[in-house]
Amino acid sequence: MKQNSVVSLKDINFKYSNEVILNNISLDIYDKEFITLLGPSGCGKTTTLRIIAGFETPQSGEVYFEGDKVNDVPPHKRSVNTVFQKYALFPHLNVYDNVAFGLKLKKMPKSEIEKTVKHMLAVVDLKGYEKRPVRSLSGGQQQRVAIARALVCDPKVVLLDEPLGALDLKLRKDMQIELKQLQQKTQKTFVYVTHDQEEALTMSDRVCVMNNGVIAQVGTPEDIYNEPANAFVADFIGEANIINGIMLEDCKVRLLGVDLDCVDKGFEKNQPVDVVIRPEDVEVTAPDQAKLNGVVENVIFKGVHFEISVKCNNCLWLIHSTVAQKVGDTIGMRIDPYNIHIMEKMFLNPTNDIITDVYYSDKENNTTTILLEGVEVTIPDAYFEEGKKIKIVLPPEALYIAGDGVGHLDEVYIESVIWKGEHNEIILESDERKWIMQSDIDEQVATYVPLCFDFGKAEISEV
Ligand code: ADP
Ligand code: MG
Repeated sequence: MKQNSVVSLKDINFKYSNEVILNNISLDIYDKEFITLLGPSGCGKTTTLRIIAGFETPQSGEVYFEGDKVNDVPPHKRSVNTVFQKYALFPHLNVYDNVAFGLKLKKMPKSEIEKTVKHMLAVVDLKGYEKRPVRSLSGGQQQRVAIARALVCDPKVVLLDEPLGALDLKLRKDMQIELKQLQQKTQKTFVYVTHDQEEALTMSDRVCVMNNGVIAQVGTPEDIYNEPANAFVADFIGEANIINGIMLEDCKVRLLGVDLDCVDKGFEKNQPVDVVIRPEDVEVTAPDQAKLNGVVENVIFKGVHFEISVKCNNCLWLIHSTVAQKVGDTIGMRIDPYNIHIMEKMFLNPTNDIITDVYYSDKENNTTTILLEGVEVTIPDAYFEEGKKIKIVLPPEALYIAGDGVGHLDEVYIESVIWKGEHNEIILESDERKWIMQSDIDEQVATYVPLCFDFGKAEISEV
């Protein structure tokens, strides 16, 4: 644990009934920092906050507060206060009494309460609002009362769970700045939760990107934007072209059939990688001035730049350029080696290969039946003798989700969906393994689907 951690989570595992919600999470939260837990809905952000606050106890792992293990310390004995999206103010009390509530519970002397509440209301810019019923306040003002109420007890750590989620865009932007200033002014540790990447990047000292109950990356907003750790982070933060590549050797990557210079080293020879290129990092040139060429498919003016869609070897790229391009024109796409980001694949070599015994075969109908995770699956137009071992190689395009709800395998979990320029690359998890599927449909992550195999696209051989 680092010296200046206020809160430290160590190998936290958390389940609801049998469902894994947090999978071995470790995170150090430093004193006086503004850290944001960022991730799509359902990835486990709120659960992480609830564990820090003491409302949930992890099945395994430790929660430390300034070096002391607090797993069994109840919420009111931790130096933590939470601000929720729904302000959870007492509607029948006025502003003063809402903010004073916690101090009265602590039996602070009346004169001191008065001083503290006055000071706190000034800090959140609500001086003179003491007597106002909270119901008469705007959403933004109510949220400031909620923040004042959380801060007034002087906690070490303030937890904020999507506190601006209920406000409209303009007010949310203003409040983002206010909250950040408030954090600096009060020198408290803020742990902020949002699913809005822009909000996270503008407000935070550090961002912790979560995906599916695991931490995908922790770093400064710049780190996370410029050096995403994997395709999920690159896809979730900002806009990105994510393309399958092959690392030929140090500083050389093959991308869409073209060999490009990059600055990354230490990969294996011919290792498949994910390549991330931000739209603003593609320089438009004359076709003969760049190794990659593409045809302009669409141009949208975005105020500062043009957003240009370019088709390059079947792959659709997004490019930002201050110069408009003509639809149908061929352009060159030049990328500085420093702007080509090479990332390890999140799931190393996922394959759909099945090696199994023939369970049953039917010569007359020319079919072979195998047992797949305990389910009988019959392969048409293929005959292999019973008892033989066969290998079935299924390309990603041979997998699909059953439209009629009946799959070869039911209840297969969608772990990630990444747009790879041409298709979505979808990673699925069944009881025993992971699968990689290619699809043009935007499937919903973290749902259960029936998975089918098109054996007509498979290569089957005896082993
Ligand atoms: P986030 O805040 O990132 O949207 P949560 O931490 O609230 O995510 O939830 C993570 C997962 O835990 C979700 O799949 C959610 O459905 C599940 N979950 C949350 N609360 C409960 C609960 N009380 N019982 C069962 N599952 C829950
Ligand atoms: Mg939540």
